[in-house]
Amino acid sequence: MKPEQIRLDRWGFVVTGHDLVHDGARPRGFENREPGFLETSLPGIFAAGDVRAGSTKQVASAAGEGATAALLIREYLKTA
Ligand SMILES: Cc1cc2nc3c(=O)[nH]c(=O)nc-3n(C[C@H](O)[C@H](O)[C@H](O)COP(=O)(O)OP(=O)(O)OC[C@H]3O[C@@H](n4cnc5c(N)ncnc54)[C@H](O)[C@@H]3O)c2cc1C
Repeated sequence: MKPEQIRLDRWGFVVTGHDLVHDGARPRGFENREPGFLETSLPGIFAAGDVRAGSTKQVASAAGEGATAALLIREYLKTA
């Protein structure tokens, strides 16, 4: 079986969160829950900053998303 790839948009940015859900269909591994904010198509892998599709490409946003991702990872690990 091919290893799962992180989903990218047509420009190569990492797709996260609700943008991974299309017509109610979620990526593999998300059968029982929605992908979290900043979570990629690989459960437990998060993306923040300029690499993320839809980010503002501003330094303040990148830092804020980084801090948010750290908190989300902590929550994820509590349930993993
Ligand atoms: C010329 C210029 C001017 C800008 N001016 C402003 C401004 O005035 N105000 C503003 O808000 N924003 C500005 N920005 C945007 C701002 O710099 C970015 O939004 C911000 O740096 C994004 O932070 P980041 O951590 O997401 O990405 P980055 O700062 O790009 O950090 C990504 C890091 O990952 C490293 N990396 C890449 N690939 C790999 C890999 N495979 N393995 C390990 N490491 C890797 C890179 O070397 C880099 O250090 C400017 C950007 C540029 C280019």
